[in-house]
Amino acid sequence: MQLYNTQHIKLYNTLTSEKEIFQPITDGYVGMYVCGPTVYSNVHLGNVRTFMSFDMIFRYLKHLGYKVRYVRNITDAGHLENDADVGEDKITKKARLEAIEPMEIVQRYTVDFHNVLNTFNFLPPSIEPTATGHIIEQIELIQSIIDNGFAYTVNGSVYFDVHKYNESNEYGILSKRKLEDLIHNTRALDGQSDKKNPQDFALWKKAEPTHIMRWPSPWSDGFPGWHLECTAMSTKYLGDYFDIHGGGMDLKFPHHECEIAQNQASKGQAPVKYWMHANMLELNGARMSKSTGNYINPAELLSGDNDIMSKAYNPSVIRFFMMQASYRSVLDLTDDGLSAAEKGFHRLMDAIGIIDNLKTSSSSSFTVTDWKQKCYDAMNDDFNTPILIATLFEAVKFINQVKDGSATVTPEDLTVLKETIETFIFDVLGLVNISKESSGGNKLTGAVEILIKLRKEARLNKDFALSDKIRDELAEAGIQLNDSREGTTFTTN
Ligand SMILES: [Zn+2]
Repeated sequence: MQLYNTQHIKLYNTLTSEKEIFQPITDGYVGMYVCGPTVYSNVHLGNVRTFMSFDMIFRYLKHLGYKVRYVRNITDAGHLENDADVGEDKITKKARLEAIEPMEIVQRYTVDFHNVLNTFNFLPPSIEPTATGHIIEQIELIQSIIDNGFAYTVNGSVYFDVHKYNESNEYGILSKRKLEDLIHNTRALDGQSDKKNPQDFALWKKAEPTHIMRWPSPWSDGFPGWHLECTAMSTKYLGDYFDIHGGGMDLKFPHHECEIAQNQASKGQAPVKYWMHANMLELNGARMSKSTGNYINPAELLSGDNDIMSKAYNPSVIRFFMMQASYRSVLDLTDDGLSAAEKGFHRLMDAIGIIDNLKTSSSSSFTVTDWKQKCYDAMNDDFNTPILIATLFEAVKFINQVKDGSATVTPEDLTVLKETIETFIFDVLGLVNISKESSGGNKLTGAVEILIKLRKEARLNKDFALSDKIRDELAEAGIQLNDSREGTTFTTN
């Protein structure tokens, strides 16, 4: 019997604004689609958090025994700079600025995206489709929306008719917006636009003569609208109605709202049973933004090469930090927060390190089965990872008590304890065991400190031959010693 028969998830559905019991459309199978990155720059740390939330959800669903098909796309065309369907395609603009092919941009940043995600120990999705690989599907989708009377063509571009759609459907159903309010709050068109109404959105854009990324279509040589690719790819691989659609909070409107409208207009039904949105990541209490300088990218955070944090942080420590907040809460990234997470993470790893050496007894002073269910209860409650982590620390406390002799555990309970803690830490939270002792940096530091001490002794003994030999041979190994009045430090290259 699979675990999902006894462990019932309640998840927060943005569509209904309620926590609902998760009941997949097909028993035992889950289809999940998450909007992937637009690959025109290095992946944003906020996006890493969003994808990490869905990686954790993917991992837990798999752990419960569901057969999950997880689709996360790559947006490699059609994402304009501005949601109002004006401005340049983000990838084309970057390609023009750097005078290279758009596909070089796509390749470079797709590789970067995968590298960053691998560093943070993500599981790969089941399918990772690209927008440019699904142009035919997108053209077919547009045609069916036109055929059903919900889109119009102007000068080779095709627009979705939001006002027409709203006569028989509810535009704003997901983001809880009303079309009347949107009309009231949007500036009137300046006469330059082909659109009938500012709320309409592009399904197909005719390409300007200089636009490199273009495909033939019944309407013009052009490219598809950004919202359209997700409808085309999600329904191609998951069916016209599927279980979970996820993404960052910022995609709720207009992107996801438009996806619902496109599906209704082409297939006559809503696409998704459960909409899930991950919240934002802030930096030192403010929005992360390159233009204000309140910004750090994943590579800078990992290498310590930045002016914001006091040092480099291990990817598992960063992952642990992110998992300490619910995916639905805003999370504030700070040096203090990371440094506290680092301590907590090592306490967790230290406890795991001593489980195998604990002495067992004929009775347990801890109800391991109740504790195990508490771990599941936390995850079943809308993937509440902070409560799960707090519950794991109850076990850490107990493990340390058994070690001190102030608590007892039976061999059977110890086995369950070990299995459960390892399952949740490694399989569900996706952390990797790095003990303080085994981290390469610390070992190196320890070894070089010993050599610095020996060299100091040699100099005190006026054995300058030996002290120079230590310095020169370290230099040959790529380690520079730097002498100053405060003492000797070292750098590596
Ligand atoms: Zn999307």
